[in-house]
Amino acid sequence: MSKEDIETLHVSVGYACNNACIFCMESNIPGLYDSVRRLISEGRMYRDMDTHGHMRKVSFGRGEPTLNPDLPKYVAYAKKVGFRDIAVISNGRRYADRDYCKTLIGSGVTEFIVSVHGHTKELHETLTRRKDSFAETTDGLKNLSDLKQEQSFRIVVNHVVNKTNCPFIGDFLKYMRGYSIDVIVLSVVQPIWWGNRAKLFPALMPRYSDVAKRIDGIRRRNPEWFLPDAGGECVSIIDLPWCCSSPLVGNIGFKEKRVSEQDERAPDSLAVAGKSKGLRCRECVYDGICDGVYDAYTSRFGWGEFVPVKR
Ligand code: SF4
Repeated sequence: MSKEDIETLHVSVGYACNNACIFCMESNIPGLYDSVRRLISEGRMYRDMDTHGHMRKVSFGRGEPTLNPDLPKYVAYAKKVGFRDIAVISNGRRYADRDYCKTLIGSGVTEFIVSVHGHTKELHETLTRRKDSFAETTDGLKNLSDLKQEQSFRIVVNHVVNKTNCPFIGDFLKYMRGYSIDVIVLSVVQPIWWGNRAKLFPALMPRYSDVAKRIDGIRRRNPEWFLPDAGGECVSIIDLPWCCSSPLVGNIGFKEKRVSEQDERAPDSLAVAGKSKGLRCRECVYDGICDGVYDAYTSRFGWGEFVPVKR
């Protein structure tokens, strides 16, 4: 995966979802979650795509975009105005319908980003809190993997690493080798939980150093899983501070430039909200590119893990 900043237009086509992931940030935004089309302005969506059509990438996400029946129409419009890369961020359940996959591919989707949070039904559904979500999502991955033999598109799997699934990252990576995945993104859970959901922190938030240690152990035992051009999938890690992940720096994922949100009421800087730098961060070689650490994390665990990296 490229380390360059990729300018990406984010387009929201609805906030409803047929999963209820325990760590979901969208579900905490008051009033955004109760209907497919709520707060969606088609006119604004088209204007955004017209304005940013010169950019490389557009990404349809937030909520579950495949619940919006007009998604293929919006994808086709994105293709028409010139986006080269067109991604859909989804829980993948609708991809159990192979004809629907074909429709999206035919409309112009070049990248399917599918969220999978466990290698077993029990683990995945403990986190998605929706029965049968594992079978539908993995059937969807199978369909996409089969279709990829005939058509050109990428499959990216997003795996939100948290305290529940962290011990099984190795099993997950091994399981994913049964599909035709281009990139597996290990995305450490972001402690952005508002109000009374802050109580989830002890149950969900792993220590960054533990995550790094575990992934590095897996990498040492299975180096081929982490090489982008080895003919298999590549592993990319995000939301793990650089200073905690020194041995894994080659797999730290790209920083995406979120250019626009279609919905003005949705906070458009969630990824950087509530972060700070430590007193010694100025000594670190990554100071210029590091966003800092979530205050929710350091207020509980302190700054001891974050030792500046020297040249
Ligand atoms: S700038 Fe600070 S938080 Fe970021 S990698 Fe360096 S020491 Fe860690």
